[in-house]
Amino acid sequence: MSPITRHNGELHIEEVALAALAERHGTPLYVYSADSITRRYRAFTDAFGGHPHRVCYAVKANSNLAILELLARLGAGFDIVSGGELERVLRAGGDPASVVFSGVGKTVAEMEAALTVGVACFNVESKAELDRLEAVARRLGRIAPVSLRVNPDVDAATHPYISTGLKENKFGIPVADAPELYRRAAVSDWLDVRGIDCHIGSQLTRLAPFVDALDRILAIVDALETDGITLAHIDLGGGLGVRYGDEEPPSVAAYADAILSRLGNRRETLLFEPGRWLVAEAGVFLTRVEYVKENEGRRFLIVDGAMNDLLRPALYNSWHRIELVGTPAAGQQAEEADVVGPVCESSDFLGKARRLAAQAGDLLAVHTAGAYGFGMASNYNSRNRAAEVLVQGDRALLVRRRETLDDQLALEQLVGEGLGGGITARQANGDSR
Ligand SMILES: *Cc1c(COP(=O)(O)O)cnc(C)c1O
Repeated sequence: MSPITRHNGELHIEEVALAALAERHGTPLYVYSADSITRRYRAFTDAFGGHPHRVCYAVKANSNLAILELLARLGAGFDIVSGGELERVLRAGGDPASVVFSGVGKTVAEMEAALTVGVACFNVESKAELDRLEAVARRLGRIAPVSLRVNPDVDAATHPYISTGLKENKFGIPVADAPELYRRAAVSDWLDVRGIDCHIGSQLTRLAPFVDALDRILAIVDALETDGITLAHIDLGGGLGVRYGDEEPPSVAAYADAILSRLGNRRETLLFEPGRWLVAEAGVFLTRVEYVKENEGRRFLIVDGAMNDLLRPALYNSWHRIELVGTPAAGQQAEEADVVGPVCESSDFLGKARRLAAQAGDLLAVHTAGAYGFGMASNYNSRNRAAEVLVQGDRALLVRRRETLDDQLALEQLVGEGLGGGITARQANGDSR
């Protein structure tokens, strides 16, 4: 159920008019519904009923502190992929013991930080990473809890950029290599083998790939058991898809049924890492039409939001529903137009060939923008990143103020003539003269 509804011609998120938020905070603007995230988190965790499980929200989907705080209060765990995300979880009040650490490129510093605060598990993606983690754990005198992320080589049937479970992807350990690595981890004094992990891709709209992946995982779990290696948890990653347009993703209940029925009598704790499913529908991106432009019969609505704010259309050619926040001006007919931003790239579009009765000055809502929206924003074209607002009932709170040019420029430095303030090549080589 979308948190966005139309009353008296005006779009609202929960009880708050979107036009009022745009007026107050300016555009482009991200707005999120707290109740939507709460409902979805509860639906996900309820779907697994009495089977021991933990929902570890994939922080990268939307890492705003207020959203992490909301999820932490609901009891969520977190799936992180960097030291930065770990810090966000901690500052938002998340429990480090509920955190799983994923990602193919964990640095020594990131491992140290995660071991020091005591994360629940490292999802290890290669032999080299396992070796590094063991060395860091030994040096810190802390045993590292590990699970191996295996690559089950199933086709997630999603966009190739968000498919991760095929053998040509960089993610995970080949199934054939897993037993030997598990044996290697099991004999280490500094590694504690806890589980197994997979994540086959994002925006999956069919159950079959999840089930195929689970079957392959269970075969590994059984083989390890025979080898005397018992796992406490099975982490099935994230990836459950949402409706952007006419997709028909399975319900979370159907997803849970498919998994639980496959599991039979096993009592391993299940871990999940949903990102998009929890937050996508909660978010809307607001942008205002600056100009209407006609080029030889093609109509463009040039808006103040761009690919630097919402990259998904440019990056994945993804489709987001776009509509007017208010009612069309008198006499304005719906016409087909491309909704494009001001950034100097032809891929800078939010929607193509949309029928909209919009004029300059009108406010547009880009739906299902709560996941992989703000988190992928950049300063390309020296644009300030958008503000973010969280709404609950009739209350709205600015949870990230709009960036300023001073924020953007603060890290840079002018050089003057001859780079007088710089170091010499000799100094760079460690010579102090
Ligand atoms: C991105 C990611 C997720 C979340 O994926 P969604 O499709 O947003 O649910 C979970 N786990 C890992 C390891 C990821 O990289």
